Amino acid sequence: MENTLAPGLYIVATPIGNLGDLSPRASMILSQADVVAVEDSRVTAGLLRHIGVKRPMQPYHDHNADAVRPGLIARMGSEAVALVSDAGTPLISDPGYKLVRDARAAGHTVVTIPGPCAAIAALTLAGLPTDRFFFLGFLPSKAHARAEAIAEVAAIKATLVLYESGPRLSACLSALAEGLGDREAGVAREITKKFEECVTGTLSTLAARYAEAPPKGEIVIIVGPPGEASPATLEDGEAALVEALTRLPASKAAGEVAKKLGLDRKALYARAMELKG
Ligand code: SAM
Repeated sequence: MENTLAPGLYIVATPIGNLGDLSPRASMILSQADVVAVEDSRVTAGLLRHIGVKRPMQPYHDHNADAVRPGLIARMGSEAVALVSDAGTPLISDPGYKLVRDARAAGHTVVTIPGPCAAIAALTLAGLPTDRFFFLGFLPSKAHARAEAIAEVAAIKATLVLYESGPRLSACLSALAEGLGDREAGVAREITKKFEECVTGTLSTLAARYAEAPPKGEIVIIVGPPGEASPATLEDGEAALVEALTRLPASKAAGEVAKKLGLDRKALYARAMELKG
Protein backbone atom coordinates (compact mmCIF):
# COMPACT_ATOMS: atom_id res chain seq x y z
CA MET A 1 0.00 0.00 0.00
CA GLU A 2 1.33 3.42 -0.93
CA ASN A 3 2.28 5.60 2.02
CA THR A 4 0.05 8.68 2.14
CA LEU A 5 0.62 9.69 5.75
CA ALA A 6 2.21 13.04 6.53
CA PRO A 7 5.36 12.86 8.64
CA GLY A 8 4.88 13.04 12.40
CA LEU A 9 3.88 11.01 15.43
CA TYR A 10 0.64 9.02 15.47
CA ILE A 11 -0.59 7.78 18.88
CA VAL A 12 -2.70 4.72 18.09
CA ALA A 13 -5.05 3.07 20.62
CA THR A 14 -5.44 -0.67 20.13
CA PRO A 15 -7.93 -3.25 21.52
CA ILE A 16 -7.84 -4.34 25.19
CA GLY A 17 -9.08 -7.81 24.28
CA ASN A 18 -11.58 -7.89 21.45
CA LEU A 19 -9.75 -7.26 18.16
CA GLY A 20 -13.02 -6.02 16.68
CA ASP A 21 -12.44 -2.83 18.68
CA LEU A 22 -9.56 -1.72 16.46
CA SER A 23 -10.97 1.31 14.67
CA PRO A 24 -10.81 1.58 10.86
CA ARG A 25 -8.70 4.73 11.28
CA ALA A 26 -6.26 2.98 13.65
CA SER A 27 -6.01 0.15 11.14
CA MET A 28 -5.32 2.60 8.28
CA ILE A 29 -2.59 4.40 10.24
CA LEU A 30 -0.90 1.15 11.23
CA SER A 31 -1.04 -0.05 7.62
CA GLN A 32 0.65 3.09 6.35
CA ALA A 33 3.11 4.03 9.10
CA ASP A 34 6.79 3.93 8.13
CA VAL A 35 7.62 2.47 11.52
CA VAL A 36 5.57 1.34 14.51
CA ALA A 37 7.07 1.94 17.96
CA VAL A 38 5.91 -1.00 20.07
CA GLU A 39 6.17 -2.29 23.64
CA ASP A 40 6.47 -5.93 22.63
CA SER A 41 6.94 -6.74 18.95
CA ARG A 42 5.37 -10.20 19.35
CA VAL A 43 2.13 -8.66 20.62
CA THR A 44 1.95 -6.01 17.90
CA ALA A 45 2.95 -8.52 15.21
CA GLY A 46 -0.24 -10.41 16.13
CA LEU A 47 -2.32 -7.27 15.71
CA LEU A 48 -0.69 -6.42 12.36
CA ARG A 49 -1.28 -10.00 11.20
CA HIS A 50 -4.93 -9.59 12.13
CA ILE A 51 -5.24 -6.64 9.74
CA GLY A 52 -3.07 -8.33 7.13
CA VAL A 53 -0.10 -5.96 7.07
CA LYS A 54 3.60 -6.09 7.85
CA ARG A 55 5.32 -2.93 9.04
CA PRO A 56 8.79 -2.31 10.46
CA MET A 57 8.66 -2.24 14.26
CA GLN A 58 10.90 -0.45 16.75
CA PRO A 59 10.70 -1.68 20.37
CA TYR A 60 10.04 1.28 22.67
CA HIS A 61 9.60 0.39 26.35
CA ASP A 62 10.71 1.46 29.83
CA HIS A 63 14.12 -0.19 29.47
CA ASN A 64 15.24 1.29 26.13
CA ALA A 65 13.11 4.43 25.71
CA ASP A 66 15.83 6.96 26.56
CA ALA A 67 18.24 5.38 24.08
CA VAL A 68 15.72 4.91 21.27
CA ARG A 69 13.76 8.16 21.57
CA PRO A 70 16.20 10.53 19.76
CA GLY A 71 16.23 8.24 16.70
CA LEU A 72 12.44 8.13 16.57
CA ILE A 73 12.22 11.92 16.96
CA ALA A 74 14.66 12.37 14.07
CA ARG A 75 12.62 10.05 11.86
CA MET A 76 9.41 12.02 12.50
CA GLY A 77 10.84 14.87 10.41
CA SER A 78 10.36 12.86 7.23
CA GLU A 79 8.40 9.73 8.20
CA ALA A 80 5.15 8.68 9.87
CA VAL A 81 5.95 7.09 13.23
CA ALA A 82 3.08 5.25 14.95
CA LEU A 83 3.17 4.50 18.69
CA VAL A 84 1.17 1.61 20.14
CA SER A 85 1.26 -0.21 23.45
CA ASP A 86 0.46 -3.89 23.99
CA ALA A 87 -3.18 -3.01 24.60
CA GLY A 88 -5.31 0.08 24.99
CA THR A 89 -4.27 3.69 24.81
CA PRO A 90 -0.53 4.47 24.78
CA LEU A 91 0.69 6.76 27.61
CA ILE A 92 -2.04 5.55 30.02
CA SER A 93 0.02 3.50 32.50
CA ASP A 94 2.17 2.81 29.45
CA PRO A 95 5.24 4.44 27.84
CA GLY A 96 4.96 7.42 25.53
CA TYR A 97 4.62 10.79 27.22
CA LYS A 98 8.28 11.69 26.78
CA LEU A 99 8.06 10.75 23.11
CA VAL A 100 5.10 13.13 22.72
CA ARG A 101 6.86 15.84 24.74
CA ASP A 102 10.02 15.63 22.61
CA ALA A 103 8.07 15.38 19.35
CA ARG A 104 6.21 18.59 20.23
CA ALA A 105 9.43 20.31 21.29
CA ALA A 106 10.95 19.40 17.92
CA GLY A 107 7.95 20.92 16.13
CA HIS A 108 6.64 17.65 14.71
CA THR A 109 2.96 17.02 14.09
CA VAL A 110 1.37 14.88 16.82
CA VAL A 111 -1.90 13.13 16.00
CA THR A 112 -3.97 10.88 18.25
CA ILE A 113 -6.16 8.02 17.12
CA PRO A 114 -8.32 7.43 20.21
CA GLY A 115 -9.84 4.09 21.10
CA PRO A 116 -10.03 1.49 23.86
CA CYS A 117 -8.78 2.31 27.35
CA ALA A 118 -9.43 -0.09 30.25
CA ALA A 119 -9.92 2.74 32.77
CA ILE A 120 -12.63 4.44 30.72
CA ALA A 121 -14.29 1.14 29.77
CA ALA A 122 -14.46 0.14 33.46
CA LEU A 123 -16.04 3.48 34.37
CA THR A 124 -18.82 2.74 31.89
CA LEU A 125 -19.51 -0.64 33.56
CA ALA A 126 -19.47 0.06 37.29
CA GLY A 127 -22.55 2.27 37.70
CA LEU A 128 -20.67 4.74 39.91
CA PRO A 129 -20.54 8.51 39.34
CA THR A 130 -18.54 9.49 36.26
CA ASP A 131 -18.83 13.28 36.35
CA ARG A 132 -15.50 13.52 38.21
CA PHE A 133 -12.94 10.74 38.31
CA PHE A 134 -9.33 10.43 39.37
CA PHE A 135 -7.02 7.90 37.72
CA LEU A 136 -4.42 6.34 40.01
CA GLY A 137 -2.88 3.77 37.65
CA PHE A 138 -1.17 0.99 39.64
CA LEU A 139 -0.71 1.56 43.39
CA PRO A 140 2.63 0.54 44.93
CA SER A 141 2.68 -3.18 45.75
CA LYS A 142 4.32 -2.81 49.20
CA ALA A 143 1.71 -2.37 51.96
CA HIS A 144 3.16 0.75 53.58
CA ALA A 145 3.69 2.67 50.33
CA ARG A 146 0.23 1.59 49.16
CA ALA A 147 -1.40 2.87 52.37
CA GLU A 148 0.40 6.21 51.93
CA ALA A 149 -0.76 6.50 48.33
CA ILE A 150 -4.33 5.76 49.40
CA ALA A 151 -4.19 8.31 52.24
CA GLU A 152 -3.11 10.97 49.71
CA VAL A 153 -6.35 10.58 47.74
CA ALA A 154 -8.79 9.90 50.60
CA ALA A 155 -10.24 13.42 50.56
CA ILE A 156 -10.68 13.69 46.79
CA LYS A 157 -14.36 14.11 45.93
CA ALA A 158 -14.30 11.94 42.83
CA THR A 159 -14.62 8.35 41.71
CA LEU A 160 -11.22 6.62 41.81
CA VAL A 161 -9.94 4.35 39.04
CA LEU A 162 -7.07 1.90 39.62
CA TYR A 163 -5.32 -0.88 37.74
CA GLU A 164 -4.51 -4.02 39.75
CA SER A 165 -3.49 -7.65 39.26
CA GLY A 166 -5.55 -10.69 40.36
CA PRO A 167 -3.16 -11.98 43.06
CA ARG A 168 -3.00 -8.54 44.75
CA LEU A 169 -6.69 -7.65 44.30
CA SER A 170 -8.04 -8.66 47.72
CA ALA A 171 -5.19 -7.02 49.66
CA CYS A 172 -5.60 -3.87 47.60
CA LEU A 173 -9.38 -3.76 48.22
CA SER A 174 -8.80 -4.24 51.98
CA ALA A 175 -6.23 -1.44 52.00
CA LEU A 176 -8.68 0.81 50.14
CA ALA A 177 -11.45 0.01 52.69
CA GLU A 178 -9.03 0.74 55.51
CA GLY A 179 -7.82 4.04 54.07
CA LEU A 180 -11.01 5.38 52.45
CA GLY A 181 -13.81 3.86 54.50
CA ASP A 182 -16.10 1.17 53.16
CA ARG A 183 -17.17 2.86 49.92
CA GLU A 184 -19.17 1.44 47.03
CA ALA A 185 -16.87 -0.07 44.42
CA GLY A 186 -16.67 -2.23 41.31
CA VAL A 187 -14.17 -4.76 40.02
CA ALA A 188 -14.18 -4.88 36.22
CA ARG A 189 -12.36 -7.90 34.84
CA GLU A 190 -11.42 -9.11 31.36
CA ILE A 191 -13.25 -6.23 29.68
CA THR A 192 -14.23 -6.98 26.05
CA LYS A 193 -13.05 -10.60 26.46
CA LYS A 194 -15.00 -13.87 26.78
CA PHE A 195 -15.18 -13.78 30.59
CA GLU A 196 -15.88 -10.07 30.99
CA GLU A 197 -17.58 -9.25 34.29
CA CYS A 198 -18.08 -6.31 36.61
CA VAL A 199 -18.81 -7.19 40.23
CA THR A 200 -20.05 -4.39 42.47
CA GLY A 201 -20.38 -4.05 46.24
CA THR A 202 -18.68 -2.33 49.14
CA LEU A 203 -14.89 -2.47 49.29
CA SER A 204 -14.97 -4.85 52.28
CA THR A 205 -17.43 -7.30 50.68
CA LEU A 206 -15.39 -7.31 47.48
CA ALA A 207 -12.16 -7.84 49.47
CA ALA A 208 -13.74 -10.82 51.25
CA ARG A 209 -15.05 -12.27 47.97
CA TYR A 210 -11.68 -12.16 46.22
CA ALA A 211 -9.70 -13.30 49.30
CA GLU A 212 -11.34 -16.70 48.87
CA ALA A 213 -10.49 -16.98 45.18
CA PRO A 214 -8.04 -14.52 43.60
CA PRO A 215 -9.40 -13.88 40.10
CA LYS A 216 -7.57 -14.51 36.85
CA GLY A 217 -7.13 -11.95 34.10
CA GLU A 218 -6.85 -8.19 33.88
CA ILE A 219 -8.58 -5.95 36.38
CA VAL A 220 -9.71 -2.37 36.94
CA ILE A 221 -10.98 -1.26 40.37
CA ILE A 222 -13.50 1.57 40.52
CA VAL A 223 -14.18 3.20 43.90
CA GLY A 224 -17.08 5.58 44.42
CA PRO A 225 -16.49 9.06 45.84
CA PRO A 226 -16.68 9.78 49.56
CA GLY A 227 -20.26 9.82 50.74
CA GLU A 228 -21.43 7.14 48.30
CA ALA A 229 -21.63 4.57 51.10
CA SER A 230 -24.30 5.17 53.75
CA PRO A 231 -22.86 7.50 56.37
CA ALA A 232 -21.52 5.95 59.56
CA THR A 233 -23.83 6.20 62.57
CA LEU A 234 -22.77 7.17 66.10
CA GLU A 235 -23.18 3.48 67.02
CA ASP A 236 -20.73 2.54 64.25
CA GLY A 237 -18.30 5.13 65.64
CA GLU A 238 -18.70 3.84 69.19
CA ALA A 239 -18.10 0.21 68.16
CA ALA A 240 -15.06 1.11 66.05
CA LEU A 241 -13.68 3.26 68.84
CA VAL A 242 -14.03 0.53 71.47
CA GLU A 243 -12.20 -1.85 69.13
CA ALA A 244 -9.47 0.66 68.26
CA LEU A 245 -8.86 1.41 71.96
CA THR A 246 -7.86 -2.22 72.47
CA ARG A 247 -4.89 -1.56 70.15
CA LEU A 248 -4.15 2.16 70.27
CA PRO A 249 -3.91 5.11 72.66
CA ALA A 250 -6.94 7.44 72.73
CA SER A 251 -5.67 10.08 70.28
CA LYS A 252 -4.58 7.53 67.67
CA ALA A 253 -7.77 5.51 68.08
CA ALA A 254 -9.87 8.67 67.57
CA GLY A 255 -7.80 9.62 64.52
CA GLU A 256 -8.13 6.18 62.94
CA VAL A 257 -11.90 5.98 63.44
CA ALA A 258 -12.43 9.57 62.28
CA LYS A 259 -10.58 8.86 59.04
CA LYS A 260 -12.19 5.49 58.45
CA LEU A 261 -15.80 6.51 59.14
CA GLY A 262 -15.69 10.21 58.32
CA LEU A 263 -16.70 11.20 61.90
CA ASP A 264 -15.55 14.16 63.98
CA ARG A 265 -12.12 13.51 65.47
CA LYS A 266 -12.51 15.83 68.50
CA ALA A 267 -15.81 14.25 69.54
CA LEU A 268 -14.32 10.79 69.16
CA TYR A 269 -11.31 11.76 71.25
CA ALA A 270 -13.55 13.10 74.03
CA ARG A 271 -15.56 9.87 73.96
CA ALA A 272 -12.35 7.81 73.96
CA MET A 273 -11.19 9.60 77.12
CA GLU A 274 -14.57 8.89 78.74
CA LEU A 275 -14.35 5.23 77.78
CA LYS A 276 -10.87 5.00 79.25
CA GLY A 277 -12.42 6.24 82.45
N1 SAM B 1 -2.76 1.58 28.30
C1 SAM B 1 -3.70 0.59 28.77
C2 SAM B 1 -5.12 1.16 28.70
O1 SAM B 1 -5.34 2.09 27.94
O2 SAM B 1 -5.99 0.66 29.37
C3 SAM B 1 -3.35 0.12 30.15
C4 SAM B 1 -2.00 -0.51 30.24
S1 SAM B 1 -1.62 -1.10 31.84
C5 SAM B 1 0.05 -1.57 31.62
C6 SAM B 1 -2.38 -2.68 31.87
C7 SAM B 1 -3.51 -2.77 32.92
O3 SAM B 1 -4.72 -2.25 32.37
C8 SAM B 1 -3.84 -4.17 33.33
O4 SAM B 1 -2.97 -4.66 34.32
C9 SAM B 1 -5.25 -4.02 33.85
O5 SAM B 1 -5.25 -3.47 35.15
C10 SAM B 1 -5.81 -2.98 32.86
N2 SAM B 1 -6.44 -3.68 31.72
C11 SAM B 1 -5.96 -3.80 30.47
N3 SAM B 1 -6.82 -4.50 29.71
C12 SAM B 1 -7.87 -4.83 30.50
C13 SAM B 1 -9.08 -5.54 30.30
N4 SAM B 1 -9.37 -6.09 29.12
N5 SAM B 1 -9.93 -5.68 31.34
C14 SAM B 1 -9.64 -5.16 32.55
N6 SAM B 1 -8.51 -4.45 32.79
C15 SAM B 1 -7.63 -4.30 31.79
